[in-house]
Amino acid sequence: CLRVIKEKNDFLNAFVPTGLPTSNGPETSLSLESPRPDKPRSQLDGLTFAVKDNICIKGTITTCASRMLTGFTPEYDATVVKKLKECGAIILGKTNMDEFGMGSHSTFSHFGPTKHPSSTESSIYSAGGSSGGSAAAVASGMCFGALGSDTGGSIRLPASYCGVIGFKPSYGLLSRHGLVTYANSLDSIGIFAKDVHSTRLIFDCLSEHDATDPTSLDTATRKRIGNQFQSLRSRSKRCWKIGIPIDYNVHEISRPLRKAWINTLAALRDLGHSIIPVKLNSTRHAISSYYIIALAEAASNLAKYDGVRFGFAPRTSMICNLGEILTSLNKLAMVRDMGFGREVRRRILLGNYSLTSRSFQNYFIHAQKIRRLIQQDFDEVFALPNPLRKPLKSYGNSFNRADVLVSPVSVSIPPSLESVLSSENLGLDSYINDVFTIPASMAGLPSISIPIRDARNELPLGLQVIAQYGDENGLFDIANIIQ
Ligand code: GLN
Repeated sequence: CLRVIKEKNDFLNAFVPTGLPTSNGPETSLSLESPRPDKPRSQLDGLTFAVKDNICIKGTITTCASRMLTGFTPEYDATVVKKLKECGAIILGKTNMDEFGMGSHSTFSHFGPTKHPSSTESSIYSAGGSSGGSAAAVASGMCFGALGSDTGGSIRLPASYCGVIGFKPSYGLLSRHGLVTYANSLDSIGIFAKDVHSTRLIFDCLSEHDATDPTSLDTATRKRIGNQFQSLRSRSKRCWKIGIPIDYNVHEISRPLRKAWINTLAALRDLGHSIIPVKLNSTRHAISSYYIIALAEAASNLAKYDGVRFGFAPRTSMICNLGEILTSLNKLAMVRDMGFGREVRRRILLGNYSLTSRSFQNYFIHAQKIRRLIQQDFDEVFALPNPLRKPLKSYGNSFNRADVLVSPVSVSIPPSLESVLSSENLGLDSYINDVFTIPASMAGLPSISIPIRDARNELPLGLQVIAQYGDENGLFDIANIIQ
């Protein structure tokens, strides 16, 4: 892995310079040099991992790819990192991302963009984002697996672009303790790996109640969901009902992706599974409500970076250059202006706007109502009831409901980096990329991106499977069949 990183990272920019195993890896050198025990500690023992640069590793710089967090060195491990270490995994370093997770192409990074692993000097493609560094690292063989975060698609989109598995679990299953927050109610830590089996293995090692994350699902509820789903499922026949969200069939989907979608569904039908169309009426409002909720939460979360309590503090010489007249208020403005990138500043402005007393009712409250409608839409199409909302009912009266939903991850194959960089100034248009991934995030549902190989395309394509809350088992089973 270290050899591949050395060979490829200068070009791909998957690992951030402050988190490269060779230049800054107290944890890495520790785990590489410490003697390995005779007996493996788990099935992950000795396997290599990369960690997105918004997840804390004790003693390793964590910047969220932002100038604002220059030199920030956490004094504790995120719970997921701690668990990986307990399992004997080797953590190699930190990966590149869009600043604070805000973006879809890993271009909004203080360290420059990550490149797609299939890029050459003459044709460079987007690796997707915001966890583009983790996806590119796994795809190019720099590590066995990687951790990322997914607020509205940041694991599934780069996974689909780079041709690896990207998994976002149900909200609350993996601890967020030690994840630098973008939008609390949407953020999930997730996993990149090369196949479904490895993804499941990693998930099983990490999924446990964590008292330090107030949104972590408690052990009793986990057990109840597991037992009840198992008994509901075992009464059903072993043919899966695959739902096709017809609202996702938008004309913007590119030809190869539509073809991959149709071919996969045909193959599933040939294997004896049934395909049923389902309607998710509120999906068309998902993007607009997501960008109100996520940005409002982000504006509030990022308020703490004032250069005093948290964040980048410009050297006094910089301040003196501007004269003695700086008040504490414009010092704060200067810190935030210099510390945050353009996209983050834009999002803080939009988020604060929707929280002002004049627009709160019109935007934020409406967005929350739409979020609830999106959750209800999903509950109406899934055969399994939502274990967090309704009392579990019999599986029998849900014959025209789906076990899982299958759709593309994105509307297009990986775009060229040049086209992304030139269209970024168009602003809101670029947010359209998240159209298929946001609904599952809004509803807190598990979702996985699976690469589809098609010999006619040099770049990978990705399909997404979405399941009912807590139905990770169903999700992995279907993902295995599709893979
Ligand atoms: N692209 C989306 C955004 O910019 C999703 C990002 C994410 O999941 N972190 O908000």
